[in-house]
Amino acid sequence: MTEIPKNHPRYESLMTREQINAGVDKGMTSRQGLLAQGRGEAFDYLIGEQTIESANYAEAVAVCLLLLAENPVISVNGNAAALAPAELVTLSQLTGAKLEVNLFHRTEERIQKIIAELKENGADVVLGENAEPLLPLEHERAKVEREGIYDADVIFVPLEDGDRCQVLGDMKKLVIAVDLNPLSRTAQSAHVSIVDNLKRALPNMIDMIPEFKNMNEADLWEIVEAYDNKVVLVDAIETIKENLTAKQNEVLGIEKDDSDDGDKKERKTEQRKRGRIQRDPEIAKKVMLRGADLMME
Ligand code: ATP
Repeated sequence: MTEIPKNHPRYESLMTREQINAGVDKGMTSRQGLLAQGRGEAFDYLIGEQTIESANYAEAVAVCLLLLAENPVISVNGNAAALAPAELVTLSQLTGAKLEVNLFHRTEERIQKIIAELKENGADVVLGENAEPLLPLEHERAKVEREGIYDADVIFVPLEDGDRCQVLGDMKKLVIAVDLNPLSRTAQSAHVSIVDNLKRALPNMIDMIPEFKNMNEADLWEIVEAYDNKVVLVDAIETIKENLTAKQNEVLGIEKDDSDDGDKKERKTEQRKRGRIQRDPEIAKKVMLRGADLMME
């Protein structure tokens, strides 16, 4: 592993790259997984490399669903195993969810290596090696275990591909996805879309478990029933828009008006809730005028 100085401004992101690289070296992660990581990083940059409030909410609902489920399963791929093996095992132990390895670029060797990694991190049983092609898909993700993903009522799918996410939904399973890209087919088709980095989402979910474990089922259902995934997706897209607009203003030298920041924040939260999000017309006008100036030059 390359030595990354702790004070490097992109320390976390560079360390994550090292982890994915190590996953490839260990034979768990596919080379395509490196590209998937890159796409995730780009969206993390746009989100602001932090757990936004709506993602925190989705994570809470995901914990409630895992605790309520009769046969919850955590689906593990090569990237997830490289990034957070210990946290996946802890989440499984604390919620009673089974762990199952399921790969797009499936080889028996990679399945075995990921199972070994999860066991080294404390897992007792890991499904995946006795998988059969039970899902209506043309690729290797179709292979699942009967008492695992096939029979699951709630499935937690970090870093999923959109195809399988849709198929699982069609099979009337509740799907929780972790995907930094709110535009992906996965995020758009999951029931609970956690738009957050897996490395932040898992520890956050683990921290929440004791509180929810103390609640009764009726209260947990109330939280789940009040949830609206559209609001969460819209909020993630809005956050990206806001971050881009702020950057655009910075480049154009447009100063931020802090005078009524508190009020503005409250109004924006209100607008978001109502799903009527609009760009600030004043800023839009300034940007358009500036664009026209640049064209004249
Ligand atoms: P889809 O098939 O759902 O439209 P895709 O083709 O982009 O999506 P893949 O390439 O199969 O999906 O998977 C990569 C996805 O995982 C990307 O959407 C990326 O944003 C996301 N991703 C990658 N790394 C992380 C991470 N560490 N945390 C959360 N999401 C991540």
